[in-house]
Amino acid sequence: LESLLDDPDLLATSAYIDGQWVDGDNGRFDVTNPARGDVIAQVADLSRAQVANAIAQAETAQKEWARWTGKERAAVLRKWFDLMMLHQEDLATILTAEQGKPLSEAKGEIAYGAAFIEFFGEEAKRIYGETIPGHQRDKRITVIKQPVGVAASITPWNFPNAMITRKAAPALAAGCAFVARPAGETPLSALAMGVLADRAGIPAGVFNVVTSSSASAIGKEFCENPLVRKLTFTGSTTVGRILLEQAAGQVKKCSMELGGNAPFIVFDDADLDKAVEGAILCKFRNNGQTCVCANRIYVQDGVYDAFAEKLTARVKELKIGDGLKSGMDLGPLINTDAVEKVREHIADAKSKGGAVILGGEVHDMPGNFITPTIITGATKDMAFATEETFGPLAPLFRFTDEDEVIALANDTIFGLASYFYAKDLSRVYKVAEALEYGIVGVNTGIISTEVAPFGGIKQSGLGREGSHHGIEEFLEMKYICMAV
Ligand code: ADP
Repeated sequence: LESLLDDPDLLATSAYIDGQWVDGDNGRFDVTNPARGDVIAQVADLSRAQVANAIAQAETAQKEWARWTGKERAAVLRKWFDLMMLHQEDLATILTAEQGKPLSEAKGEIAYGAAFIEFFGEEAKRIYGETIPGHQRDKRITVIKQPVGVAASITPWNFPNAMITRKAAPALAAGCAFVARPAGETPLSALAMGVLADRAGIPAGVFNVVTSSSASAIGKEFCENPLVRKLTFTGSTTVGRILLEQAAGQVKKCSMELGGNAPFIVFDDADLDKAVEGAILCKFRNNGQTCVCANRIYVQDGVYDAFAEKLTARVKELKIGDGLKSGMDLGPLINTDAVEKVREHIADAKSKGGAVILGGEVHDMPGNFITPTIITGATKDMAFATEETFGPLAPLFRFTDEDEVIALANDTIFGLASYFYAKDLSRVYKVAEALEYGIVGVNTGIISTEVAPFGGIKQSGLGREGSHHGIEEFLEMKYICMAV
């Protein structure tokens, strides 16, 4: 991997704490390339005590960082952003090597991830308070916003860069210090961000990366250490529930970006070619491994067969292989369990009358590959109707009327992203309002941007990331009542 990089120093394997590169008390753990299964690095495995130390260092650094003006914080965040874009190619290579997504997608993720640093750096100057007319003649009421303190994050492997910047950028902009625990599968992208944070002049202790093979030990430390004032998590609803329970002991402020089960609805009046393009992007980006990927595709009776045919033709064109080779559309899945889950969902659908009209085969190349799959005749008793597949499986459900599909789409504990294609304006409004989701994509399959509030309702989470709302998660409001 080192030989593929213009700047091999970006490949860091020690943890980054208080501006120092630190070895782990528990030795090192392996990071593998999911396209080949070979070990590409061995990364410091920290003990819980070392993580507690990182939190203590962050707390000290935070006091000084909070005193910086917004403009000063904005200047170093801008540098961090510039460095990430300068090293976009190398960061993408590292990301693909540990995560598997095609290089072009990895480059896209670096630009997307860096954009949060650019955006929130700018926001650092706009943390406005308010004045409220007093309730008595001698009273003056002021509301100020202050950083919560040390924020800690736990993030998944599907976006090794952007899941961290979405949290770290607003935290740092707000004046918080940050302790990131990247997923064990993908720590290298986070450590490379540490290298660049250092070069950008982010003060020691303000941004830390703690690597560990034991997620649950770090999760406990984050929840039980009183110096951590904010926990921000992206991952499954199952783990989110565990963390919320653990955080309850100290009534810790939490943001949760949890699972989804996104419906993608194609109405009779949709532009079918655009709907197919949207479905390709929405379903197969990152090989189906995003929490906003279409999981259930509902197609209205009149266009069902035509949509299935067009989608099949388009999916057949997708190239699958090692993401580090040029021209790939789909990489491997993250591990063998992920492949197994897709196979289970396919087998379950087949046993209940679904027809596999494309794909479904496990490749005989090394690595975790499965061909993109389309199933027709999907029904609500099949596993993917209630569970996220997190893989390249597109089940097509048939429906007849609008109210029926809205009820089906909302019949889930999740409420993150939803999508639909239609032209009739009153239908567009009605459906957009009726979908019980934090995000609705209308005639588009791609909704992620740093300028909009990303987040879910129901059991998909708490809080929002991105936009001016995203920084509020890292700020406390203080009301000052003054008698004059
Ligand atoms: P995914 O299916 O995306 O991996 P998970 O919720 O299992 O979703 O994992 C998200 C992140 O949470 C990963 O970094 C994982 O290591 C971490 N994690 C898993 N279990 C726990 C736990 N009990 N406490 C804290 N973090 C955990």
